[in-house]
Amino acid sequence: MADLGSRGERILNGIPASRGVCRGKLFVLRQPTAHETPQYRISVNEVDAEYDRLQQALLLTRQQLHDLQHRVSETLGSDEARIFDAQLLVLEDPSLIDEVRKAVGTDHVNIDHAFARVAQRFIDGFAAMDDDYMRERAIDIRDVTHRVLQNLASPGSTPDLSQIREPSILVAHDLTPSQTALLDRKMILGFATDLGSSTSHTAILARALSLPAVTGLKDASQRVVNGEYALLDGFNGALVLHPSEQTLFEYGQIERRYLAMEEKLRQDRELPAVTLDRHEIVLSANIENAGETSEVLASGAEGVGLFRTEYLFLERATHPSEEEQYTAYRQLAERLHPAPVIIRTLDLGGDKMPVQPDAFTERNPFLGWRAIRLCLQERDLFRAQLRAILRAAVTGNIKMMYPMISSLDELGQANELVAECKASLAAEGIPYQADLEIGVMVEIPSAVIIADSLARHLRFFSIGTNDLIQYTLAVDRMNPKIAHLHQPTHPAVVRMIKATIDASHQAGIWTGVCGEMAGDPVLAPLLLGLGADELSVSPSLLPSVKYVLRRLKLSEARELAYFALQSESASEILERCRKLVRSIAPELLAC
Ligand code: PEP
Ligand code: MG
Repeated sequence: MADLGSRGERILNGIPASRGVCRGKLFVLRQPTAHETPQYRISVNEVDAEYDRLQQALLLTRQQLHDLQHRVSETLGSDEARIFDAQLLVLEDPSLIDEVRKAVGTDHVNIDHAFARVAQRFIDGFAAMDDDYMRERAIDIRDVTHRVLQNLASPGSTPDLSQIREPSILVAHDLTPSQTALLDRKMILGFATDLGSSTSHTAILARALSLPAVTGLKDASQRVVNGEYALLDGFNGALVLHPSEQTLFEYGQIERRYLAMEEKLRQDRELPAVTLDRHEIVLSANIENAGETSEVLASGAEGVGLFRTEYLFLERATHPSEEEQYTAYRQLAERLHPAPVIIRTLDLGGDKMPVQPDAFTERNPFLGWRAIRLCLQERDLFRAQLRAILRAAVTGNIKMMYPMISSLDELGQANELVAECKASLAAEGIPYQADLEIGVMVEIPSAVIIADSLARHLRFFSIGTNDLIQYTLAVDRMNPKIAHLHQPTHPAVVRMIKATIDASHQAGIWTGVCGEMAGDPVLAPLLLGLGADELSVSPSLLPSVKYVLRRLKLSEARELAYFALQSESASEILERCRKLVRSIAPELLAC
């Protein structure tokens, strides 16, 4: 790509997170939180003016919610629109408003601070209640609080996503995975964030949604203006503000090449993932949502290699019941039957936080209360999921794997719970799959080191390279400042993958790879050469992986792996991977 900076545009460089180019007006999202809310003292004379400010903000919020309700009613129906009734009721709640008024009058603090403080108390109170219905109210109060605080901060000028009126490029300091999952694809052309990397769950979701995305743009959200015209380049990781005619022309060429390549990929989609020397490898899809079956089928996947079930648990105050989960898993597996669906048990924690503010404030969430660790302590939560999976597996081709296993002890405890769930289902006369295939994700170095022991108790491994790289190299996968150190071709990572695959084969079980490394067509040949039996990737990336595999010989992949296992340099291995793909599918690297 030519140097675009010389033409007067402003280019902000970040990390390419999801391929594609889009252009349009920017929509800058600012979401004040209770922690960001300004706090200052006011004089007695200012109390009434502060209170008036609150009344204005409440009025504006009410108008926005009615407007939103009207639009949702037109597009989704009146039942869905009713969800805003609860939020409107919060605005009318006299106890909340009275407490805020009292706090301003007695403490002489600004109304924003008083509102945030009182609302947080209400949120915590509702979140801690036993009653499911009451706990759901915590989400309504939190949403309404955000909206009121935005309107207090700068009435009408700090928009939220519901205010997008035309398809736009979203710019935000950060987006949570659940916000990303809920993005309206008709209104969001792509997104750019200050934080994040290419293996954060937000980036993974952008690829699942086929939305161009750039992360790690540092302070871009502070430097751009709402409504400004820009081009987002998800291939190279750039946000080009006010692109010149020449730049738009050059990107037009890139897009044309990309579309031509997509057409080529479509032609291979239904064909098997088999190398030129007739070696077959299973290509499966990673999904975050039980409804993604059409994307799975359209991608040419042979099944689901990773279903990230935690998305069923996000953005709600109560956990889904066993019955709700059972229905979701059963419907997914039935729609894809006879193709296999590997359900990963809950991987909450890390960057995927449910709505329970106090329980999840950790200094090092990725080293903390996450995944299987959380499930082995929150046993009722885990039991409900295990029972739902065991039941759904009666009608579907379901397998199950545990995330973040670091020891045999954890595996043993999880399996004991499975045995307990089977016994209780049998006692209740509820049908379940007695011979459910169970595997684990290998994503912690200790699991690699004891892979031979683990393999004796399991039916398969699935290597989670996103976390395996993070934990092996001590590189936070969310931190854009060290994103360049998150290296899938680091010799230590290559050897870890090889050791895991060898241990599994010696024990007579298979190994898949489901981290983002598997979805990179440049790296897929290396994984094949290292002996992977399955690659599980985002449906949007699957066609390009298949395209490369179908133009490759297993012998070439093995030579590449042999080279990588001898090499001492991540960049040397990466260059060798690129060289191989350039020689067999140069058109893929050209866009
Ligand atoms: C991984 O760690 O590679 C993986 C697939 O799991 P997740 O990205 O959900 O942590
Ligand atoms: Mg992981």
